Amino acid sequence: MTRIIALALAIGLGLAGGVAAQGVPQNDNLNATLWTQRSVEFKGTALTAFALAKLRLDEALKDPNWTAAPDEQKGGFGSLPPAVILDIDETLMDNSAYQGWMVMKDTSFDPKTWNAFVNTRASVPIPGAVEFCQYAESKGVKVFYVSNRTGEEEPATRDNMAKFGFPMGGNVDTFLMARERPDWTSAKGTRRAHIAKDYRVLLMMGDNFGDFTDEYRGGEAERLAVFEKHKARWGREWIVVANPTYGSFESAPFGHDFKKSQDDRRQAKRGALTAWPGP
Ligand SMILES: [Mg+2]
Repeated sequence: MTRIIALALAIGLGLAGGVAAQGVPQNDNLNATLWTQRSVEFKGTALTAFALAKLRLDEALKDPNWTAAPDEQKGGFGSLPPAVILDIDETLMDNSAYQGWMVMKDTSFDPKTWNAFVNTRASVPIPGAVEFCQYAESKGVKVFYVSNRTGEEEPATRDNMAKFGFPMGGNVDTFLMARERPDWTSAKGTRRAHIAKDYRVLLMMGDNFGDFTDEYRGGEAERLAVFEKHKARWGREWIVVANPTYGSFESAPFGHDFKKSQDDRRQAKRGALTAWPGP
């Protein structure tokens, strides 16, 4: 009898183990990637953001006191030529195929695989992005791209974006990549300041808090305080494109410390949730 129970247990455990081994792999980014890649809701959200940006651009052009870069734009900017500062990844260009690859392989971001992806020039425009950039250019507004892609990745990035008709800047270098100058760190304030010296910044667009302010790397309470400080800017001179797949929102709960294990990061993110205790 004991032997039969032991045998039954062994078969049961074996089956359970087998099911787990053959089950669908779990990855934290599946839903977010599916949403950005396939939902009409994402496409609608993006078109909404760029439609608003177009209205705000017209408004800003008429108001010489308007600036989107309050920390970087110093006095006397009213007579400067107008510009917009736009992030590239997940703001203008959709890299969800790279996210999809990470989900399928159950792996995480790595500069080497990212660089290989960039070099394939396989990114596609976010809905509404090309049309907005072309509209801005048609109004005499210089379109600057401030991206944390590297200088080494700039040629492939230019090829990829030129193919879709993004304005390329003419005789001005409008692609300001990370570390092209010693003080151009991944915090974008120094690059915004570089543009703000010569241009009045009408709008900033991004998918990440760091596309708007350098005060993005705090914990959640600190980020919320910075958000509140700038509350009047959102939807006016600061316009966000939704990106639920990655960004400083995700790393804030684990202190932006990517040396932590996946389990520790997931634990910290779970700990940050508001959760109903249940029935
Ligand atoms: Mg981005």
